[in-house]
Amino acid sequence: MSSISRKVVLVGTGMVGMSFAYSALNQSICDELVLIDLNEVRAKGEAMDLNHGLAFSNSSMKIYFGSYSDCADADVVVICAGVNQKEGETRLQLLQRNYKVFESIVPSVVSSGFDGIFLVATNPVDIMTRVTYELSGFNSAKVLGTGTTLDTARLRYLLGEYFNVDPRHIHAYVIGEHGDSEFVPWSQAIMAVKPVNDLLSQYPDRFKIDDLCRIEHEVRTAAYEIIKAKGSTYYGIGMAICRIVRAIFHNENSVFTTSVRLRGQYGLRKEVFIGNPCIINSGGASRILELSLTDEELEKLKTSYQILDESYNSIN
Ligand code: NAD
Repeated sequence: MSSISRKVVLVGTGMVGMSFAYSALNQSICDELVLIDLNEVRAKGEAMDLNHGLAFSNSSMKIYFGSYSDCADADVVVICAGVNQKEGETRLQLLQRNYKVFESIVPSVVSSGFDGIFLVATNPVDIMTRVTYELSGFNSAKVLGTGTTLDTARLRYLLGEYFNVDPRHIHAYVIGEHGDSEFVPWSQAIMAVKPVNDLLSQYPDRFKIDDLCRIEHEVRTAAYEIIKAKGSTYYGIGMAICRIVRAIFHNENSVFTTSVRLRGQYGLRKEVFIGNPCIINSGGASRILELSLTDEELEKLKTSYQILDESYNSIN
């Protein structure tokens, strides 16, 4: 960490950014929170609104509207700026517009002298994380995206309900693109110490593969359902960002399926960022955990990887 006080700069004070900021205040995640947005009036208003809640919180966080020069001594820059999905739109369809947004943000952050960790939530998040890596020139450990962290949380919640077990004892992950090609490597899913596949064969009348497929589908399409119901998704991702920032500040070595740049894992060598379990600490994306995937799962991962690589290469 570059400073004793924990400083976060949030770029993009829309629904996702402010859901993160609100969680950060309630969880006292940092000592200083700076808000930046193209819409300065909105960012100023958001800073005022949060500050008026300080008296009711356990935090003495310093919250203010700022500019890119405030990134110089920040520990983490969280980027939630850009357009979001409209009903019927895929995340990949946002790419060209959000690339332009990042062209105006990332170089400004870097030229402040920022030397901390970038955490990206803007969609399509895997590609926007790669864009941040390319535009910043930072070491890949210091550039991460939220990836499939939220999808994994959704999966663990649904599996917890299905098996009637506390989701904290479900160790199952969604990996790949945060989008339509994401998937669950069921061969790696464990309930406490028991592989989920063993549960299926041991209790065929209670637990069925069809149910797991339904749950996987529900996770993959959750964002579409929420967007249909209320226009956009923000609370869950805001809390996911908060959780990752906490892991960074507390040097936790916690595992999240963040979007990270593979370093030869799975025999995949290009500079693609993709959701995969990774150990997160104060250095950022510390160690990527290579899973022992089945051939079929490896094919799915490769499909996701190719989609992400081709989409990145389509940026003009
Ligand atoms: P929003 O429209 O509410 O907010 C976006 C904000 O970005 C606005 O305040 C806008 O003024 C700002 N902005 C735009 N261009 C900017 C620029 N050049 N510099 C600074 N600020 C700029 O959108 P939202 O609902 O908060 O969504 C933000 C992003 O998060 C979208 O891309 C959305 O798809 C994504 N998202 C990601 C996840 C995930 O799991 N990673 C989940 C939900 C949403």
